[in-house]
This record gives sequence, structure tokens and C-alpha cells, in this order.
Amino acid sequence: MRLALDLDGTLVDARARQVAVASHVLGEMGEAALEEDLFWALKRAGATTERALVKLGYPLRAAADIADSWRKEIEADRWLELDDALPGVLRVLQELRSRGVTITVLTARQRAEGAARSLEGAGLADLVDELHVVDPARAVAAKADLLARHVHVGFVGDTASDGEAAAAAGVPFVAVTSGQCCFGHLYSLGYRVVPTLREAVGLFVGRSPAGATVGV
Ligand SMILES: [Mg+2]
Repeated sequence: MRLALDLDGTLVDARARQVAVASHVLGEMGEAALEEDLFWALKRAGATTERALVKLGYPLRAAADIADSWRKEIEADRWLELDDALPGVLRVLQELRSRGVTITVLTARQRAEGAARSLEGAGLADLVDELHVVDPARAVAAKADLLARHVHVGFVGDTASDGEAAAAAGVPFVAVTSGQCCFGHLYSLGYRVVPTLREAVGLFVGRSPAGATVGV
């Protein structure tokens, strides 16, 4: 049995790095300090970085420049060090592996080596059978191609890009709210939505009466 999982927001925390980079760039540009919780809430509701900054009151022109710098900085090694496994993820992957489930991780990153660094830093590298990194500019099509290359029982992700790729490949999809998008945003897109990877995995591979993940 093969299961596909997204990386950012599904296996590793998405908030720390995004917020830290935004705060750093704002500081460098001499702008007011970031309201971190509000910034993250706006992004999770579907706003782009630029749109979230405008909603927080930064001038339109400055927001565009800040968002541009944010994009250039977000995958730098010094920020990737902030990536950590989401609560419970390590245990879920260990259980899947012990049941013989093959774990494929699909992610869109500008730097392929950065994705491996994130997995390594989060302590998850040894629990992943395959890591595939695609170009963010064609994330949906590239992820769909990879999903269709083998039979996958499902794909778990935290964004519309993940859901669209699964739909294109004809693979069942479950969205988690542990990452980039809030429940309301994901639900409005028509996805099956659960809080964490554990609940999502349980929908694909079943659960024992005690709640532990079991293979079928
Ligand atoms: Mg993601």
C-alpha cells in the first residue's frame, strides 16, 4: 500500500518559518512590527502574503516589495532550520512504516535540496520512502503526474494545490487544517477536512479499536 503526503503544513510546521521571514523582512525595510497571529490567520483564510500585509495596514507599494523579498528569502537555509515536525506526525509515520505502508512525500519548492533539509531537520527523513520535489510554477500538474505514476490509496495535503493535483490524478484526497489553510477555506473548496495527519491517515488505512493506525 502506498500513501502520498504533502510536506509543508502536513508533516512540518508551516507557520514558524513564514512568520519569521515576514518579521525579518519588515524589520529590514524599517516597517512596523508584524502582528504575527493576525498575519497567519489571514494567510490561513486564503490571503497571499501581499494581500495579508495590505489588510494589516502596510502601504500597497511596500506590501508588494515586502512580499517579493519574502518569496526570495523563504527557502533560504537559515530559515529552513525553523522547520519542525507537527505534533504527532513522527508517531504516525512510524506506525505507517511498521505496517508496511510505502510513504511518498510530494512537495513544491524552489530548491529541491531545501525539502530534504526540512525533512532531515524535522527528524522525519528516515521514515519517508520517496521524496519528490516539483517546480512551484507547475505544482498541480507535476504532483498529479507523480501521483498517477503508482497506485496511491490517497493523498493528504493542506492546500488547494494538493487537492487539485489529487483530483487530476483520480486519487482520493483529504485536507488537514494543521498547515496553510483554515477549516473554512478548505471546506469552502469542497474537500473532506480533518484536523491532523492522524485523522487523515485513519480514513485511508483504517484504525484499530484503540485508535492506533492499522493497515488493511
Ligand atoms: Mg503544504
